[in-house]
Amino acid sequence: MKAVIVVGDGMADRPLRKLGGRTPLEAAETPNLDEIARSGVCGIMDILSPGRPPGSDVANLALLGYDPYKCYRGRGALEALGAGIEMGEGDVALRGNFATIRDGVIVDRRAGRIDGTIFKEYLSDVKLDAYQDVEILVRPTLGHRLVVVLRGERLSWRVSDIDPHKTGVPPLKAEALDGSPEAERTADILNKLYELLREKMERHPINRERRERGLPPANAIILRGAGAPPRVKPLREIYGVKGACVAVTPTVRGACAAAGLDLYDAPGATGGVDTDAVSKARVAVKLLSDYDLVYIHVKGTDNATHDGDVEAKMMVIEKIDDLVGYLLNHVEETYIAVTADHTSSIRVREHVGDPVPIAIWGPEVRMDDVDAYSERLCARGGLGRIRGVDLMPILMNLLDRVERFGA
Ligand code: ZN
Ligand code: ZN
Repeated sequence: MKAVIVVGDGMADRPLRKLGGRTPLEAAETPNLDEIARSGVCGIMDILSPGRPPGSDVANLALLGYDPYKCYRGRGALEALGAGIEMGEGDVALRGNFATIRDGVIVDRRAGRIDGTIFKEYLSDVKLDAYQDVEILVRPTLGHRLVVVLRGERLSWRVSDIDPHKTGVPPLKAEALDGSPEAERTADILNKLYELLREKMERHPINRERRERGLPPANAIILRGAGAPPRVKPLREIYGVKGACVAVTPTVRGACAAAGLDLYDAPGATGGVDTDAVSKARVAVKLLSDYDLVYIHVKGTDNATHDGDVEAKMMVIEKIDDLVGYLLNHVEETYIAVTADHTSSIRVREHVGDPVPIAIWGPEVRMDDVDAYSERLCARGGLGRIRGVDLMPILMNLLDRVERFGA
């Protein structure tokens, strides 16, 4: 027996006036999601606890079966793991942007959305004179984004951002958040690193050329979201399953990498509303010949919500429906779970704390009377109301992978 988890990012919503009191899931055409609900067992799920809105990083950790309140240690390390960088227990990672600074003030937090990968070589050998013992990795990832990893003794992720998160102000100084000597030391490393990278980037010929062409130079690197890898045991060790992840979003890939899942791409999958979702299903079906568990994440529903675009959200929901349709037609001896990593409200354009629908389809589920997939109908299902961390054990139990407690 195998399992596939399909996660629509922020797919659940609240009833919307402009949809006549329906949610986007209720208003969209979703015959395949409805089939999962009709032939499956349904419920609703509080990702963290009732009423608590989660970030996607925390939410995906919960869906993988880990209690974020116990294991979560900031976003930066998930981002680094998602970029394929190995992280050790004491390592600290931050995400960052190539930015433009003029007269001491940040004028563009994305340096004209520059493709930072052109600086990859140039930034491959960074060392601080004052901290020779700390290994520093600067890795451009997607567009104007990058990841920095610090490796060494006595580091802490409890440090504040250098990125001021707005323009027209100077970059901030990293500060210790918990007053520990490790955090003081890490903050000092980051502040010295900022100065070093600032000079290094200012000198780069591409930036000279960009200035001449009237383009914003990438002459500063502003870091944020320090984190250490989550303290989790790989799913392979807990349940003996071999898992894979098909996702684009770096933090989701990172959460999956922390869980010991192998990371895969799908052609045409973009992480946006224009994504080819069925392509992910095709990759997943191929992976099922080699893996026990495949985790598929589709980001577009959340992007559409943050943009307040209900039509786009419904369109991506229908793509997720096609993805699930492909799975239904191509898998055997497999459970399929469909859910969202949180509810996202089109009205407030943000994550909210309402529960999400969950439906599990497969050979030995206790089918209930729910006949369509939605926030409201799933609430009548046989799973009742569960928490995010319950999903993995429920699925692994269906796969006969959960150890008995007691004699
Ligand atoms: Zn999310
Ligand atoms: Zn979001």
